[in-house]
Amino acid sequence: MPSDSFDVIVAGAGLAGSLAAAVAAKNGLKVALLDRNKDDEVGKKTNWGWVCGDAVADSHIQYIKSKLDISFDYPELDVKVDGVLVLSPDLEYKVPFEGSGYVLNRPAFEYKLMKYAVKCGAEYMPQFEVEGPIIENNYFVGVFGKDKGMQHREIRAKVVIDALGVATTLRRKLPENPYVDKVVDISDVESTGRYIYDFDVDHQDERFYDPKNALIHLNQEWAPGGYGWVFPKKGTRVNIGIGVQRQSLEIRNMKMNKKDTLHTLMDQYVQNNPVIKNPRLFNDNNNGKGYWSVAVRRQLDCLTFNGYLGAGDSMAMPNPISAGGIGPALISGIMAGEQAVRSIQSGDVSVSGMWRYNLEYNQEYGKKTAGLEVFRTWMQSLNNDTINYGMKVFLTAKEAEDISYGRIPELSITSKAKMIIQGVSNMNAFNNLRYVVKKMKVLNDIYENYPKSIEGFTKWREMVKAEMEEAKSKFQPNPM
Ligand SMILES: Cc1cc2nc3c(=O)[nH]c(=O)nc-3n(C[C@H](O)[C@H](O)[C@H](O)COP(=O)(O)OP(=O)(O)OC[C@H]3O[C@@H](n4cnc5c(N)ncnc54)[C@H](O)[C@@H]3O)c2cc1C
Repeated sequence: MPSDSFDVIVAGAGLAGSLAAAVAAKNGLKVALLDRNKDDEVGKKTNWGWVCGDAVADSHIQYIKSKLDISFDYPELDVKVDGVLVLSPDLEYKVPFEGSGYVLNRPAFEYKLMKYAVKCGAEYMPQFEVEGPIIENNYFVGVFGKDKGMQHREIRAKVVIDALGVATTLRRKLPENPYVDKVVDISDVESTGRYIYDFDVDHQDERFYDPKNALIHLNQEWAPGGYGWVFPKKGTRVNIGIGVQRQSLEIRNMKMNKKDTLHTLMDQYVQNNPVIKNPRLFNDNNNGKGYWSVAVRRQLDCLTFNGYLGAGDSMAMPNPISAGGIGPALISGIMAGEQAVRSIQSGDVSVSGMWRYNLEYNQEYGKKTAGLEVFRTWMQSLNNDTINYGMKVFLTAKEAEDISYGRIPELSITSKAKMIIQGVSNMNAFNNLRYVVKKMKVLNDIYENYPKSIEGFTKWREMVKAEMEEAKSKFQPNPM
């Protein structure tokens, strides 16, 4: 094999990429792992750093451990949390979400995964800027880009794994095809930003800072179409930020006669936190402040093309209601690596030959996300008063938690049809919730029946599209 020829190219050494490379290399394949960052900055998403809330459920860490001989500890697991708590805008109700987990030291976590991939035999190529795919006969057969010395370079492989994150250049340069979408709708993308701060505790108030829990604030004024978060780190350090939907922000500004931006809202969010006194940017690795985007829709309908597998944010995998993309990236990275091994062994790297990856990801995580996308769209159509009322009256904490896992609390919702709801807008919101829950069930059933082979895909996709379009046309962003 020539030196620039590999079995697998993994583009992007973030979470999904390093794990995909580790799995493929561990199974004896010749693997190139490319990332634009320097060795000691592996996984850095942008010049702004490793921009993320860094909260991950323990179940996702356990998933990696069940698949690979790797263990995790401090410092990469910065702090353990009992769970994620979602607070209503009036701060009176708290709903648990996703169970216990960790807030990561992201640079350390990424470095550990990359080192593990290298230990498994992957060749890591830092400072390689991937510029596009090499496509022959409608198959991905490699990538081109600029290497460490800024030289144009082409690298070839039987399979290319796209783990370049949300701004992936590879997916955008796919040939026209009926499987993988090249573009994600802007209304399904959150603009996000966060700081990492050391601070003095002004006084205890667990609605604003809880060293044992990751807090999420739903509030259409503070973070229109998204939410704010305060995630504890070691000592009195926090990862604090907000995500907003662009259209919701515009509406909110218009109705409030304001000109806020993501940046001004982030600063207000910190300033308005009464527990955080004297915040000091914790800027190790130049990672104290940053902005980036996260897609909050169902993962792309198909995750593979001829010679191509996508994993993590490149496939819009973050959870539509929490924007949690670390778990999906870890899961899909491992599965994409496994699929590359199977397809190369069988000699079939066509879409059809790699179809099993779609099925496995769908079964492990993906099947709940279309329903959650509908739930998210409904949430974005509610103002603070309705969210307050809904969190108090519509759902028990257990039911809300069930929804976060994609489970449908069917019976209790039906029984609540008899309860007395005050106000027309609350009644409308409740009726809409019943519609949403029904639609979630329909979508979950459709995803349970994800096509076993490529043949059924077009028809299946039309069904999904019809359901999504109907649901989304019902709810428009309406933060105020
Ligand atoms: C502000 C914010 C907060 C978030 N909070 C959370 C949270 O608390 N919990 C959670 O679970 N998820 C969260 N997410 C989502 C989570 O960060 C992502 O889902 C996760 O990082 C996806 O991992 P990935 O490996 O797919 O992609 P990435 O982490 O984006 O990694 C992609 C890698 O590819 C490299 N790369 C990109 N383009 C090129 C190129 N052309 N050439 C070479 N290299 C390239 C990048 O530099 C990077 O190293 C958040 C996201 C944001 C933006």
